[in-house]
Amino acid sequence: MAGHKLIIITAPSGAGKTTITRHLLRHFPKDLEFSVSAATRQPRGNEQDGKDYHFMSPDRFRELIVQHAFLEWEMVYEGKYYGTLATEIAQIWEKGKTPLLDIDVKGAIHVKNHHPVKAFSIFIEPPSLEELGRRLRRRGTDSEESILARLEKSAYELSFKEKFDTVIMNDDLEKACRETAEAIARFIHS
Ligand code: 5GP
Repeated sequence: MAGHKLIIITAPSGAGKTTITRHLLRHFPKDLEFSVSAATRQPRGNEQDGKDYHFMSPDRFRELIVQHAFLEWEMVYEGKYYGTLATEIAQIWEKGKTPLLDIDVKGAIHVKNHHPVKAFSIFIEPPSLEELGRRLRRRGTDSEESILARLEKSAYELSFKEKFDTVIMNDDLEKACRETAEAIARFIHS
């Protein structure tokens, strides 16, 4: 694993991370590949198994934990597991590409501290928690209870932003996409 690069993008849910991630994958098609995480939540909207997540049962997930199949895993929300499969990362490296991990704050810090990889971590900062709440409600994919849980988690996550290699303020999506792409270009060519 030593010497290999990977990029981690983290943000409170609703901070525009998915849009920025899609932009990056389009902008660097030869260099980056999305790391598809394993997850035990239900698919939302038109999410596809194997493309957005490897959806699986909690029993299967726990089996993989025992087998040390994960680079990192977290119970991101109460009762819901999410994890980065070591095989997923390895097959991206085999293609000569850099994996792009969209994972939560704890997972990002874990990878930075515990793995001998050259990891570049990016934190996307929402303009405010009020704006984040508005965006989540506008998205319309979550219940009010789940939105409140996400906002609470976001406030907690924001307190870790100093631990990241770079912080991008997403008060203007186009600017945030451009700044993130510039930071990544510097990292992959370093
Ligand atoms: P969502 O349910 O909205 O797709 O994702 C919820 C959160 O889980 C997001 O913050 C996302 O970045 C995080 N997440 C997704 N995959 C992983 C993973 O493999 N590991 C960790 N630690 N977090 C993940």
